[in-house]
Amino acid sequence: MYIPYGRQSIDEDDIQAVIEVLKSDFLTTGPKIEEFEKAVADYVGAKYAVAISNGTAALHAACYAAGIGVGDEVITTPITFVASSNSVLYCGGTPVFADINPDTYNIDPNEIRKKITSKTKAIIAVHYTGQPCDMNEIHKIAKEHNLIVIEDAAHALGADYKGKKIGSISDMTTFSFHPVKHITTGEGGMITTNSKEFYDSLILFRSHGITRDTNRMTHNEGDWYYEQLELGYNYRMTDIQCALGINQIKKLDNFIERRKKLVENYNNAFKELDNIIIPFQKDECHNSWHLYVIQVQNIDRKHVFDRLREKGIGVNVHYIPVYKQPYYLKNGYDKECCHNAEEFYSKAISLPLYSDLTDEQQSYVIKQVIDCVQGVK
Ligand SMILES: *Cc1c(COP(=O)(O)O)cnc(C)c1O
Repeated sequence: MYIPYGRQSIDEDDIQAVIEVLKSDFLTTGPKIEEFEKAVADYVGAKYAVAISNGTAALHAACYAAGIGVGDEVITTPITFVASSNSVLYCGGTPVFADINPDTYNIDPNEIRKKITSKTKAIIAVHYTGQPCDMNEIHKIAKEHNLIVIEDAAHALGADYKGKKIGSISDMTTFSFHPVKHITTGEGGMITTNSKEFYDSLILFRSHGITRDTNRMTHNEGDWYYEQLELGYNYRMTDIQCALGINQIKKLDNFIERRKKLVENYNNAFKELDNIIIPFQKDECHNSWHLYVIQVQNIDRKHVFDRLREKGIGVNVHYIPVYKQPYYLKNGYDKECCHNAEEFYSKAISLPLYSDLTDEQQSYVIKQVIDCVQGVK
């Protein structure tokens, strides 16, 4: 038996939805794209949604639409997947890492303030594990310094911030539908926004910068005619993927309910143990629980990690602070730039969390974790 840290949940309806598209006229850029976009926009309460090939492309597109270029600085967290800051590099900009809050593990607004310069153009807030960042403070800082706010919500589909769904409150919010995330399309991503201007820019960027919209073209030479207005990419999502997404999002609230229940079970099992710190929970926000991350203290993390892996439990570590990656070090980043991120990284372990995880599997994980932290010196 091997229990991964995350995995997809696919049922017969999902499979049928994909088969139907395979028998239809369109495999890509057909009716399922807009249908999925509308489903996500409606779910999060945003005006617009743009389907895109993956969560990384979504971040790239958002940075592009934000106008990030050479000489621009973008502040983000080091406790994230490398894509959050790589997207800034794709556009020629410079990621700047601000330390995390040691309780929430999210970017600390006070640390953002310290990193602002005349070159700062945007903030990329990452809702780590699905726990919303302190968005009121982040929006306040952005307003004071005229910055664009992008939320990397790859972990946070279905989370809400003070009564509003993540995806509805900032300039742009990006999502990923990789199989470990809340819902999956295999590979896939989405950007949500309330701005027509960002929306238009994202649509162009997704498909080579090409338009057939006569309102946007410089002139029209006939029905064959199109124009490339910007330098875009082929970042399109397929109808096959979107059909899966449309069916998956119907089950999202159930998936989140199950994740919450599993988190409750973990918390109850671990909260009395001295050498485990359970995750932070804030009442005014609803974490959608992409990851369940504990910190182990007074005990060697690697030892615990290796023992659990030996027991068939696919524990993981999210994340190695991005500035420590050789590519970033080579480009001049300080390998210990953020103290709280270092502390957190040295203790963190992600335990299995996904909606198909059974009670029996979870009990096994809990027993192994307890045996391990109590048995090892
Ligand atoms: C998964 C993830 C991404 C990238 O999404 P892909 O769809 O894999 O490209 C970006 N940021 C964070 C925080 C993620 O967890």
